[in-house]
Amino acid sequence: MEHVLLVVSGPSGVGKGTIVKTLVKRREDVVESVSCTTRAPREGEKHGREYFFLTKEEFEKRIEENDFLEYDEHFGNFYGTPKSFVKETLKTKSVILEIDVVGGLNAKKEIPQTVLVMIAPPSIEELKRRLIGRGTESKEEIENRLARLEYELSQKDKYDYVIVNDDLETAIRDLESIIDGKQSLK
Ligand code: 5GP
Repeated sequence: MEHVLLVVSGPSGVGKGTIVKTLVKRREDVVESVSCTTRAPREGEKHGREYFFLTKEEFEKRIEENDFLEYDEHFGNFYGTPKSFVKETLKTKSVILEIDVVGGLNAKKEIPQTVLVMIAPPSIEELKRRLIGRGTESKEEIENRLARLEYELSQKDKYDYVIVNDDLETAIRDLESIIDGKQSLK
């Protein structure tokens, strides 16, 4: 059985992190790639778990060394997918990247077999409420994220699959079926 590179995107607060983390815990043959970022860690975040937190200089050095499958800037900070980790891991496991739509489309340019999955909310109004209620970001950050939300969702036609996160367990199963379907095709 061959392995799949899967991008999971969707607006902030849609629940993509929970879906991906639960699936990865259940499946030994699927891992999540840890991205690098120059943003400061939020409370409770750990270097090497949520992200590799780098200085701008360290990040720029990695760009020069061509060490990112893709990278992008959001809200004044850089985010990038470590290329060597992804390529090495794909030899033995499927890999999930939890990144935004621009990053997803760029990853697919680099690795055309990449499968793009968008997680959409059952209701945009409900998502806005959830995002504001999360309480981990400043008011300015929340406004940035709300503006970004509509853009992310408007890109869903460019994606291979859209999963509506109405029920967590169903959404996880939908994602698993995509992985299993692709693996069995190879
Ligand atoms: P946050 O700061 O909330 O963790 O992430 C902000 C945005 O950066 C999210 O849209 C997230 O999907 C995106 N992001 C996280 N890692 C990467 C990455 O490696 N590459 C790109 N292009 N975007 C990323």
